[in-house]
Amino acid sequence: MVEVYQSFIGLEIHIRLLTGTKVFCGCKARFGDEPNTNICPVCMGYPGALPALNEEAIEMAYLVARALNCSLAETTFFDRKNYFYPDMPKNYQISQFHSPLGADGYLELPIGGIKKRIGIHDVHLEEDAGKMIHQGACSYLDYNRAGTSLLEIVTDPDMETGEDAEEFIQEFRRIVRHLGVCDGNMEEGSLKCDANVSVNVKGKGLGIKTEVKNLNSSRYVKKALNYEITRQKRLLDEGTVIVQETRLWNMEAGVTEPMRSKENAQDYRYFPEPDLPPFRPDAVFLERVETRLVELPYLRRERLAAEYGLSEEHTAFICEEIETVRFFEDSVEQGADPRTAASWLGADVQKICNREEIAVSDSRLTPKRYAEFTLLLKEGKINSKIGKQMIELLFSEDKDPETIMRERGWEQIQDSGELEKLVDTVISEQPAAVEQIQNGDFKPLGFLVGQVMKVSLGKADPRLAREIIQKKLNIN
Ligand code: ZN
Ligand code: MN
Repeated sequence: MVEVYQSFIGLEIHIRLLTGTKVFCGCKARFGDEPNTNICPVCMGYPGALPALNEEAIEMAYLVARALNCSLAETTFFDRKNYFYPDMPKNYQISQFHSPLGADGYLELPIGGIKKRIGIHDVHLEEDAGKMIHQGACSYLDYNRAGTSLLEIVTDPDMETGEDAEEFIQEFRRIVRHLGVCDGNMEEGSLKCDANVSVNVKGKGLGIKTEVKNLNSSRYVKKALNYEITRQKRLLDEGTVIVQETRLWNMEAGVTEPMRSKENAQDYRYFPEPDLPPFRPDAVFLERVETRLVELPYLRRERLAAEYGLSEEHTAFICEEIETVRFFEDSVEQGADPRTAASWLGADVQKICNREEIAVSDSRLTPKRYAEFTLLLKEGKINSKIGKQMIELLFSEDKDPETIMRERGWEQIQDSGELEKLVDTVISEQPAAVEQIQNGDFKPLGFLVGQVMKVSLGKADPRLAREIIQKKLNIN
């Protein structure tokens, strides 16, 4: 069947910035504290209290806008978004409407295996509201979160499916984590996502959109958005007019449900915040933003694959956490063999880190030692069996790989004279296997190599051992 419809998804992502204090006052931005202990007259909206912009927050905000290729505002100011809700003591939210700090950006990233350009409509800084806790007949209010810094990123409706959106969010999450501006924890609400969804007959442009809220886990994004797209297609099929409204994802029922009719910008009576002066970034500020910029993870994955011929699996693993990719690149700079470094990082190193609950960057294993380790393997001075034991020691002992190798007598036997003696012993001890091979069945060859490894206490170079056995038994 020919698909007659086209779907459009735009995202509104809110990230909680990792600032120590709130965005317009000096209160601690800390979660899990006793309710209503991190509050002051400013974030409580007391008469006469004046907000002041948090420098760290605005710097992080510009950094994100820069990373998303936005044009950066030379002057940006704040607006009041007016609405009443008990968790917002001022009855308005300080946000940005008329002059967001970043606009017209884009990310060109692989989605579903192909490069897609997702437009970034704007990036703006605002404050979060407090928290309402409903218990039986009572509702409690905790204002510790009121006034903490939120950065909102609005994309263009350039995604088509729930899968697209899910991939975009995962990549976006990696970006803000690598920039060090957000921990990206969706379960704890550090990264929240709402989506605008519309469906229309192909070629007719955007349809009437609904806003889907409550996409608190990346697992639900795909489900919720695909549900909403299917729902809208069905309505169009029936000839029913789609209502512009806000819908809530009900994860228990697996459906989106109407929440309220969609409010318009006019409803909020936005007007410029009179208590805060406009912000104009100077050259020093912009330079600081520039120095905080990092290579974006998806670009880094591409580069590492091209430069070192690493597999997709390895680049994905290395570029997931910025600490890992920094460790990898530092090791390579210290002379590590890139492919050996990549494969051991994703396997044994990771296993030990998980077991010890430690990041490789905080362990005894330095990039320099790791580089040495990969070279011992690459040059055949140790085999991978010994490597597994050595990597453990590199975490537990404060010693260089060469030192460990010598102390333990782990140097691989590469001297062919010495190996030949070991092979002779094995051949005389295994007449049955030898006979089988001489009768043309080469299956026991691996067994004989294993026996050489055993008598050498794991130190033989298995490739060389195999060669010598073949030579002695006159097989090629
Ligand atoms: Zn405060
Ligand atoms: Mn917002």
